[in-house]
Amino acid sequence: MPSISINLKEGTLAKNTQQDLIVGIDLGTTNSLVAYMDENTGQAIAIKDEEGSNKLVPSIIHFLANGAVEVGNNAKGQLVNNPQNTIYSVKRLMGKSFTDIATHSQYFSYKIIDDDTESLVKIRVGDKFHTPIELSAEILKSLKQRAEKALDRSISKAVITVPAYFNDSQRQATRDAGKLAGLEVLRIVNEPTAASLAYGLGTNQSQAQTIAVYDLGGGTFDISILQIEEGIFEVLATNGNTFLGGDDFDRAIVDYWLEQANLTAKDLQANKALGQNFRLAAEAAKMALGTQGIFETTINKEPFSLSKEQFNALAKPLVEQTLKNCQQALKDANLNKTDINEIVLVGGSTRMPLVQEMVAAFFEKPVHTKLNPDEVVALGAAIQADILAGNNKDMLLLDITPLSLGIETMGGLMDVIIPRNSKVPTKAGREYTTQVDGQVNMRIAVYQGERDLIADNRKLGEFELKGIPAMPAGFPKVEIAFIIDADGILRVRAKELRSGIEQSIEVRPSYGISETEMAKMLLASMQNAQTDMQARALQEALNEADQIINTTEKFITKNTEHLSTKEITETQKHIAHLKTTLASKDKDKIHAAIEQLNDFSRPFAERIMDVAIASAMKGKKI
Ligand code: ADP
Ligand code: MG
Repeated sequence: MPSISINLKEGTLAKNTQQDLIVGIDLGTTNSLVAYMDENTGQAIAIKDEEGSNKLVPSIIHFLANGAVEVGNNAKGQLVNNPQNTIYSVKRLMGKSFTDIATHSQYFSYKIIDDDTESLVKIRVGDKFHTPIELSAEILKSLKQRAEKALDRSISKAVITVPAYFNDSQRQATRDAGKLAGLEVLRIVNEPTAASLAYGLGTNQSQAQTIAVYDLGGGTFDISILQIEEGIFEVLATNGNTFLGGDDFDRAIVDYWLEQANLTAKDLQANKALGQNFRLAAEAAKMALGTQGIFETTINKEPFSLSKEQFNALAKPLVEQTLKNCQQALKDANLNKTDINEIVLVGGSTRMPLVQEMVAAFFEKPVHTKLNPDEVVALGAAIQADILAGNNKDMLLLDITPLSLGIETMGGLMDVIIPRNSKVPTKAGREYTTQVDGQVNMRIAVYQGERDLIADNRKLGEFELKGIPAMPAGFPKVEIAFIIDADGILRVRAKELRSGIEQSIEVRPSYGISETEMAKMLLASMQNAQTDMQARALQEALNEADQIINTTEKFITKNTEHLSTKEITETQKHIAHLKTTLASKDKDKIHAAIEQLNDFSRPFAERIMDVAIASAMKGKKI
């Protein structure tokens, strides 16, 4: 597959990819970092900050009063004093709806909008609504700038890593964040794959290997079992705990000290600064005890200490939990411990000697620890980037789709089903539903391109799925599958799962499009990322408003007898207000009005929520 490079500054196309540097980015929950392949040494290098001291960028975004944003260490300093305006762990929200995270909402100190629908979450800061994509883009922008400063060249291409368990929409969200940050995302790579590449595993093409990647980060634990054969990485199993990481070790130390000082967690809640001091001292103790036998400090003029033995006793049950996940992953992959050839440690928390010892003992094999565990993912991403740039001829490069493929959804939006740069052959699908009661036909229009509005993309074809049995809106389950075979032919199949009716078409996406045209489409998508994103956000807000007005009105008509006159007239006022904001074309105003309507109607809606209406509200509309 030919590669195309674009000079973003000049807006021109270049055929020569040689001088194009592609960076590798680890977009982490706690910390992010950017790395590149040094042409002279052939080594992957993580890029430091301007002071030349830190490589890790805390994945934290702080919104200043004047609307400006700061990312990284400066933002981290605002966590205590400015919690509503300081966003952390945004990776946990990527591609998620509020229902996905509802049980963990108390984990976040900032405002996540709970409009009780299946739509993606938004974060409210002041009177602005931000998506996790926009927030992640801020982190990526800051990494891009750091790389541009350090290397003194413009950077427009990147490989970004994601956890192996990320689903299609989480991966798409990560791609979108890259685009919004002005980066062409050449590949989304699994974190364990990148870590293995950093250790040079899998570069020996002939021999099949089974690798366990143990990743204990700041707030999450992931175990992945990979199989590498002929340069192809396959994920055999993943397991883990999205709420177990380095933070829990810190918390265990804090709890231990509190007990010693006859304090309780309540005392810390009342005094946030004191809580933060305890947390920082606990993290310092955890790190220091990796190399020394005892740690001593003073907090609030009181002396506190912790010995290595005491710490290990606190840490052991947490590490044991991770080993249970490892056991489960082995079981899911149908493997025994002895089938694992290599064990790779990833994540800052694997610097703890106890973790290294217990993992090695569990697998009965030495573990890889030569590289910095909090850098390996970014280093591997840089190696993958170098392979994509064509500099590493030994590695196999599979055929890829040059442009994204997707379908038109409500409001003329492009819903990507197979992202650009996906390996071919491939198959992907998603479920949709109907928009109106009794809808019996559904039109499926297939598009190619990177823009958010289908009007800006290239239409490949359309067909109609006919004979859907009449059901209320939201009930039919229409699965749309995209299948690309090894010859690059795309088959799109629509199937209504309740009735089994189906219909399909075949198209050749590359037919009638030249390389220059493809490159132009890519360039346009990068140049218009900001406006496209705004157009998409506005259209999504309009869709959401439409849907909520519709369901609320239906709900009121159906439940008039269970509602007080005041409830009805007030709701109608809120609906009228929402309708007037639609004309403003201001997504923040629309979201605010939706939130008001929801906040008002939630108590009585919950009171008489009819199950049928609840499920009719769910699902994407085509
Ligand atoms: P993530 O992948 O979640 O973004 P990292 O891999 O950067 O996070 O890991 C961050 C965690 O690593 C933090 O909890 C931090 O306290 C921990 N950590 C960093 N260095 C050490 C160390 N020397 N000993 C123990 N824990 C460490
Ligand atoms: Mg990580």
